[in-house]
Amino acid sequence: MQTDILIIGAGVVGCALARDLSRYTAGITVLEAAADVAEGASKANSGIVHAGFDAHAGSVKAHYNVRGAEMYPSYCAELGVPYRQNGALVLAFSPEDRSTIEALYRQGLDNGVKGLRILERDEILTLEPLTNAQVVCALLAETSGLVSPYELTFALADHAAVNGVQFQLDTPVTAVRREDSGWTVATPRGEWHCRILINCAGASSAWIHNQMTGREEHHIVNRRGQYWILDHASPLPFRHTMFQCPTKMGKGVLVAPTVHGNVLLGPTAEDIDDPLDTATTAQGLDDVLQACRLTWPQVNVRTAVTNFSGIRAHEEKGDFIIGAVQGCKHAYETVGVESPGLTSAPAIAAELSALIAAAEELAKKDSWVQAKPLPKPFNEMTPQEQAAACAQDPLNGRLICRCEVVTEAEIRRAIRRPVGARSIDGVKRRTRAGMGRCQGGFCAPRVAEILSEELQLPMTQLTKNGGDSLLVTSTLVQAMKEAQTK
Ligand SMILES: Cc1cc2nc3c(=O)[nH]c(=O)nc-3n(C[C@H](O)[C@H](O)[C@H](O)COP(=O)(O)OP(=O)(O)OC[C@H]3O[C@@H](n4cnc5c(N)ncnc54)[C@H](O)[C@@H]3O)c2cc1C
Repeated sequence: MQTDILIIGAGVVGCALARDLSRYTAGITVLEAAADVAEGASKANSGIVHAGFDAHAGSVKAHYNVRGAEMYPSYCAELGVPYRQNGALVLAFSPEDRSTIEALYRQGLDNGVKGLRILERDEILTLEPLTNAQVVCALLAETSGLVSPYELTFALADHAAVNGVQFQLDTPVTAVRREDSGWTVATPRGEWHCRILINCAGASSAWIHNQMTGREEHHIVNRRGQYWILDHASPLPFRHTMFQCPTKMGKGVLVAPTVHGNVLLGPTAEDIDDPLDTATTAQGLDDVLQACRLTWPQVNVRTAVTNFSGIRAHEEKGDFIIGAVQGCKHAYETVGVESPGLTSAPAIAAELSALIAAAEELAKKDSWVQAKPLPKPFNEMTPQEQAAACAQDPLNGRLICRCEVVTEAEIRRAIRRPVGARSIDGVKRRTRAGMGRCQGGFCAPRVAEILSEELQLPMTQLTKNGGDSLLVTSTLVQAMKEAQTK
């Protein structure tokens, strides 16, 4: 199979880059190992648009973080993705913490972050009354925001697809070979030949780099972060994202609202061997809870709806590696894009696509289709808007997910999107069906029926989340026949 540009990895970075490169006249294909886009770090993170004070001044991270955060409001508006600028507080509980806060403030100014201020105890408790009263001072970052990371990635993938980008899911790259005319990439579904190869493979990005160059130059440490997520039925304890002082392992544990009104507690920072081991552990979740008590002494996880974990792709040298691959023609990469990679993705894509277009002499297309945001979710409509939506399409009147108020029309639309849902979790992340209190206990069978109808697949071929996560292994008739022949 042949393509001009091949991107490895359909996380937020690969999808943002594919979308920006789709402005140029070139055939673009994205190869993704998983069964859906946004299955790596881009589905399981804190969803914070970081203001940019905690990346070291002069680092690649600082550059992309600050520029990315500035792009977010208009970027999300263009794509129709929920984004909210709620501001963040970094709390200090000791004189040493105060020094850290002052250092972060100065670093933020050096990085060009606007809206930074140091607050004293009384002002913090007025702003956020549930904060631990032992707090000494805090750094306020007004430009910090919230986004749904996977909804952003889906919107970018859809926009890339309507502009001609091909997505090949379930297609892990197993080897990369340099040729005179470009690159050959091996997968279990056959070989791909391309002129320009771009590595956006997250946790595998160092491995792909080392394959490309034939040198062991980069090494990724898999740093897992575990979370609790609380139901949005209870009032939010804090309006701001509440950080503690960072440690050498990362930004520390936070208590944060999500863009959909849940509360997020976490993450841990544990170095593990397996880049796919997104298990949660009793120890990890207990560590999160203990750490959160410092910020929010009354924290209570009785309203928890689920736990999850994500894996940061931490490159040993500690910074993002972005640009042309040194010593390789027609090769580009984004290696070690750990936090603040979600924040940085729009800026990485904008700058890297411009660099590639200039170096590879790509011509701009005459016409490029603008993003078409999804209609307002049914659960955010006024009663009048809901009545009008039901009159227009009766499937809006059929509630499938009671907890999150998701309609049959929305589920069918999610499956029919340009890069549509193919599994129960694919529907969940595109519509929120199954994200509520019952975690899909009521709606999953109905979602499976709709998936089966839309995809024209028997129930026995549907999965929870790709691979071998089958929902139904056999029909009753088959099972009875098998029992009789035993
Ligand atoms: C716990 C945690 C909290 C975080 N919090 C924040 C935050 O609040 N704010 C922020 O800005 N950033 C945050 N981040 C960082 C952010 O999530 C990442 O920087 C970002 O998602 C990276 O996107 P990506 O596209 O580079 O990687 P990924 O999303 O991991 O995508 C890489 C893709 O490549 C695919 N792939 C891998 N190997 C192959 C192969 N051989 N063949 C084909 N495909 C392959 C993977 O399946 C994956 O889909 C956090 C990360 C974690 C883990």
